[in-house]
Amino acid sequence: MSNAAAKPKVGFIGLGIMGQPMALNLLKAGFELTVYNRTAEKARPVVEAGAVQVSSPKEVAQNSDIIITIVTGPDDVKEVILGPNGVAEGARPGSIVVDMSTISPKVAREVHAALAEKGIGMLDAPVSGGDTGAKAGTLSIMVGGDAELVEKCRGVFEAMGKKITHVGGPGMGQLTKLVNQVLVALNLMATCEALTFAAKAGADLEKVLEAVSGGAAGSWQLSNLGPKMVEGDYRPGFMVKLLQKDLKLALEESDFLHVPLLGTSLVHQLLRKAEDAGWGDEGTQALVKVLEELASTRVAK
Ligand code: NAP
Repeated sequence: MSNAAAKPKVGFIGLGIMGQPMALNLLKAGFELTVYNRTAEKARPVVEAGAVQVSSPKEVAQNSDIIITIVTGPDDVKEVILGPNGVAEGARPGSIVVDMSTISPKVAREVHAALAEKGIGMLDAPVSGGDTGAKAGTLSIMVGGDAELVEKCRGVFEAMGKKITHVGGPGMGQLTKLVNQVLVALNLMATCEALTFAAKAGADLEKVLEAVSGGAAGSWQLSNLGPKMVEGDYRPGFMVKLLQKDLKLALEESDFLHVPLLGTSLVHQLLRKAEDAGWGDEGTQALVKVLEELASTRVAK
């Protein structure tokens, strides 16, 4: 760290739907921020808010004590951290890489080990709470890695999230995130199935949502995505193709563990239909359109 009393200098790589509001919250909390985004243009709002933009992950690392990555999948994380002009080429021994993307526990452990050889610390710290949680700074952050590193990064985590849980050693943050995604998939499916059922019966769907959201059937998916399904608003908070990436990771892990993930497999198969229909870049609430077709009804107004 640059100085024990001062705030660490933070680097941020990946200014997408999640990364951009998370970076803005770090600036709001007073962290000095160096950023990189593959599509340079997308960094503009963060630069206007005070971040310094550089042209490679390596340069981000050269300027930072803590380097955050939130890109797409396992191959992207390997590329920005271990690839040419990647974080590992610029990071000083003693600096800490915090990967907040959702990837496999196995790849997370590989990256931990590769960085450890260079004396660079790592935490796998995927998030939950969606784009709304990223904007509000209320993400749940599930962290795998060394306890001492978690404490060094606590202030950074607190600028972006509300619930920060150190769940275990390297890879355990990602394992916990896959558990989270099993729950997301099944709650999403429950929301779609229930609303399709209500629609076919001719019920007033806004009244149904009002009646059931606060009781034992309530969930984040129901409260946040149920109204969007009724409005016919399929703009992404979390894209279908990203949930598919995560369910594939969960199913690979379940294969390895020999645990049947029956409901998760079902949602994965149904979302294939959504991807085939061209809805891969829409929000996960687009699953309801697959069920609408199966039931020959319409949930959207
Ligand atoms: P997104 O909007 O598609 O953003 C992805 C970001 O990663 C973009 O900045 C993209 O750069 C960058 N990127 C991807 N591959 C790259 C590569 N090979 N090299 C350099 N940059 C690369 O996705 P998102 O919704 O923010 O999701 C990011 C991560 O958070 C994913 O792992 C996702 O599963 C996870 N997550 C998302 C949510 C959610 O609700 N959206 C919730 C929890 C977790 P470009 O701008 O150049 O494309």
